[in-house]
Amino acid sequence: MSDKIKIYKNCLLDLDETLLDFHASEKIGLEKVLRAKGLSFSEEIYAAFKVYNKSLWKELEKGTICREELFTKRFAYIFGECEGDSSDLDPLAVNHEFINTMSQNGVLLDGALEFVKRIKEEIKDLKIYVITNGATVNARGRIASTGLDRFLDDVFISEDMGVTKPSIEYFDMVLDKIKQPKESCIVIGDSLTSDMLGAKNASMVSIWFKPEGDIESAVKEYGIDYTADSYDEIINALKEWDKKHSF
Ligand SMILES: [Mg+2]
Repeated sequence: MSDKIKIYKNCLLDLDETLLDFHASEKIGLEKVLRAKGLSFSEEIYAAFKVYNKSLWKELEKGTICREELFTKRFAYIFGECEGDSSDLDPLAVNHEFINTMSQNGVLLDGALEFVKRIKEEIKDLKIYVITNGATVNARGRIASTGLDRFLDDVFISEDMGVTKPSIEYFDMVLDKIKQPKESCIVIGDSLTSDMLGAKNASMVSIWFKPEGDIESAVKEYGIDYTADSYDEIINALKEWDKKHSF
């Protein structure tokens, strides 16, 4: 007699801008670290950091710099924007402190905790997994610091796995770990190019959170099943999906 595996409704939830506010944590981390070093901090300094950081990430994607160069360069640059003496500071060491500080200061999007609580309570046999591209310490730390971890069944971080959304390998690895069929999974996220494309690549049902731009053509192109502007709308979509599928 073979053991029958219980099938759940599996929510694969993106992290940043779906449950947590990445930029709010980044700003807190930067301010705390710069001030601790006796340097100034302002909205202008944070804006300059974001612009320069973005250009460095593009360089990294092109392969013209490595991660360590990115981490060093962004702080060497930002020291030059701050008032105060930074002559003795090591940009790479300060970057390390910044990542740690940021990871201890997760910021929930409004209503996010209530949302995960509600879907567990209102939909029977539902599991919640986080699927996120990013650094392990940063994602795990921010999740734990907000109390979100109490409601999650597991967290899948690209740095741990060695593969990233939207690749089919990433989603196959998640299915392998949760031992559930793809038909039982629904992907929820704000990004077209990682979450919605990932769901399409993996042939999973999808909910596009906070859709923007040319919604109609994006829905067609990525084969999106539901769109939702709020957590209430995600819950409604989940209930509709739940009604249509019994496993
Ligand atoms: Mg996101």
